[in-house]
Amino acid sequence: MVYQMKIYKAAIIGLGASGLAVNKIIYGETFNEIIAFENKEVNSRDNFFGFWLADWMKPFEEIIEKKWNKWTIGNSNINVTHISNEKPYCVISFKKWKEYCLETNNKLEIVNEQVIQYLPVKNYFKIITADKKEYYAEKIYDSRSIEEKKGELKQHFLGINIDVADNTFDEQKLTLMHFTQEDNLLHFIYILPFKHNKALVESTVFSKEIFDDSWYRQKIINYLMLNNINNFEEQSIEKGVIPMFFVDEERSENSNVYNIGIRGGACKPSTGYAFSFFIKQIQYLKDSNKNFVNVHNYLEKRMDKMFINFLKNNNENGNSFIKLASNLNGNEFQSFMMGESNLLTKLKVIKSMPKIGFIKEIFS
Ligand SMILES: Cc1cc2nc3c(=O)[nH]c(=O)nc-3n(C[C@H](O)[C@H](O)[C@H](O)COP(=O)(O)OP(=O)(O)OC[C@H]3O[C@@H](n4cnc5c(N)ncnc54)[C@H](O)[C@@H]3O)c2cc1C
Repeated sequence: MVYQMKIYKAAIIGLGASGLAVNKIIYGETFNEIIAFENKEVNSRDNFFGFWLADWMKPFEEIIEKKWNKWTIGNSNINVTHISNEKPYCVISFKKWKEYCLETNNKLEIVNEQVIQYLPVKNYFKIITADKKEYYAEKIYDSRSIEEKKGELKQHFLGINIDVADNTFDEQKLTLMHFTQEDNLLHFIYILPFKHNKALVESTVFSKEIFDDSWYRQKIINYLMLNNINNFEEQSIEKGVIPMFFVDEERSENSNVYNIGIRGGACKPSTGYAFSFFIKQIQYLKDSNKNFVNVHNYLEKRMDKMFINFLKNNNENGNSFIKLASNLNGNEFQSFMMGESNLLTKLKVIKSMPKIGFIKEIFS
């Protein structure tokens, strides 16, 4: 008997948010056999992915948890409110995303093992897992990424989903960034009010070091108490670390290896927004014969780099973000955040930046 090894059409390494997107967007309407590897227990994962409703996100409207046309950016002295009726802020939960991305025509086999290595053999790849098994596929979609790099900033956060007394929150308006005044630390509270008595309240820091969970919890409690919310029932938490640097792996030399998600450079590092950008990346990859697409244009990347360097070298307390928000209207702000701003908006953004620090970064 001749042993015939099975060669899958594609292997997805990491069945997180972008790996799932590959299954749905690229292979969902095919009848291909795909294999995916995931080393963690993703069934217990849940979190909310926020984005503004840019045109390329419209195909996913049916799974949006909630939309807000109004958001605020501020601190204890000033609050800038933005409105966008055309492109509201939206969230999709990881659980819904997963369910949606697994409902496809293609045949997906999921292997709950860590991939140790893959290497090209003839016109396919051999994939080796931690239990020393071997699998074969024609293409690789790799989403493994690092959260930390020495000396680089990261966005780290912990959020609590809470139930509170009736009419505590204004469910029409989300708090995008409420900066608290910390010593030499950029910290803000992010609130998604799902209902008048239900919200996700998150404590977020931009810094090189991450903290114990208790630190973020205390900041959340302080904020709630300051707002006279003394009693709440905790439902669940979400936490994470997002790199605030440009990744090294973006493009693979092998034309059949696709680096996707944060690994593929989809994250906008100055903000930590990644979800909508890797969806755009995967939509582009579907229609391209290349293994790499640019989701952020040159000018936006340059501005991002300058802003991150500015944050790294200065003690920013949130005032630059508030100034930026006050110089833009809601539509301009969302267009900038989604990488779709026109030149005038970009000039307004540059004008909002602290002059000396920012100019120094241009020439650094
Ligand atoms: C709690 C949280 C909230 C976030 N909120 C937002 C938001 O509101 N808006 C936004 O735009 N972005 C948000 N992000 C950022 C970003 O969208 C997410 O980090 C997103 O999950 C990144 O997708 P990814 O596919 O690149 O990586 P991941 O989702 O991390 O997927 C990579 C997967 O690969 C697996 N893996 C790693 N190594 C191996 C290996 N060797 N073998 C097998 N599997 C492996 C990992 O276990 C993981 O499941 C958030 C991130 C977190 C953590």
